[in-house]
Amino acid sequence: MRRGQPPQRSQGLFFPAGHCEGIRLGGYLLQGGYGWNSKVLGPACESVLGLEVVTADGEQIYCDPENHPDLYWAARGSGTGFFGVVTSFKLRIYRRPAVLGTCLYMYSIELVDEVYTWGREMSPEIDDRVELQILATCAYPAAGIDHPAITVASPVFAEPEEEAAKALAALGTCPVVGRAMINIPYAPTNLAGWYTAVMSNYPKGPGAARRRYGGSWSAAVHRADRDIDGSTARHYRPDHDRGPSGRTCSHGPTSSPA
Ligand SMILES: Cc1cc2nc3c(=O)[nH]c(=O)nc-3n(C[C@H](O)[C@H](O)[C@H](O)COP(=O)(O)OP(=O)(O)OC[C@H]3O[C@@H](n4cnc5c(N)ncnc54)[C@H](O)[C@@H]3O)c2cc1C
Repeated sequence: MRRGQPPQRSQGLFFPAGHCEGIRLGGYLLQGGYGWNSKVLGPACESVLGLEVVTADGEQIYCDPENHPDLYWAARGSGTGFFGVVTSFKLRIYRRPAVLGTCLYMYSIELVDEVYTWGREMSPEIDDRVELQILATCAYPAAGIDHPAITVASPVFAEPEEEAAKALAALGTCPVVGRAMINIPYAPTNLAGWYTAVMSNYPKGPGAARRRYGGSWSAAVHRADRDIDGSTARHYRPDHDRGPSGRTCSHGPTSSPA
């Protein structure tokens, strides 16, 4: 995928882009990249088929398994330690899963022990198509909750819809599920809704995202002229309305190393 030529939504294509808006492809792919549906598709760097690189000598080379395999190997995980400047990535892209769904359970903060104990115990058994998220939040105004609460909201990429609902069923097994303030075992949603939900958890303004992510993001992230990778994420958003999970209080899968 070259700069300015992102795949078209209309072609039903998908790439495991990062969970937040504004993540650029350069750093994301070089450092591994754990994005949407990465439990199934693997870290994003595993979908790098080749790269154009400018070396320290100013030479422009193409790296793939046959050409400069050492640099190709290093590029997929070296992060900030890469030895050249990548000017383009050739990526494997995927058919977009037909269904993106979610569950939504909300518990009072008093149930924190029960919910997190259950979450830790069941997380290894979760279906790979589900990105488990259990998050504490200080309030959830969209649902009229103005006190601390725990949200269990997990995207699932599967098809058909019955499979998606089945994959999420394990998230309804919390021993205190009968005391949930909100109990929605399955609802269809879309990436636009998830991006909105994720970004609603970040403070706005310059440096805001970096405050959350401990400085891994350079100041360049705020430069509008480097929008290629933010726009990549947006390109995977369906055009239709956001689903019922569009205002969940979540910031990214708990399984994400990001
Ligand atoms: C709000 C937020 C959410 C995030 N969410 C996720 C997530 O869901 N999943 C995940 O895996 N990560 C996530 N991250 C981490 C993110 O992937 C890294 O911070 C990544 O380094 C961002 O890349 P960048 O190009 O935007 O940043 P930059 O700061 O521009 O780049 C980081 C470093 O990568 C190297 N680099 C970047 N581009 C190139 C290039 N073209 N050639 C050579 N070297 C280059 C440079 O050493 C640079 O200093 C998140 C970060 C933030 C701030």
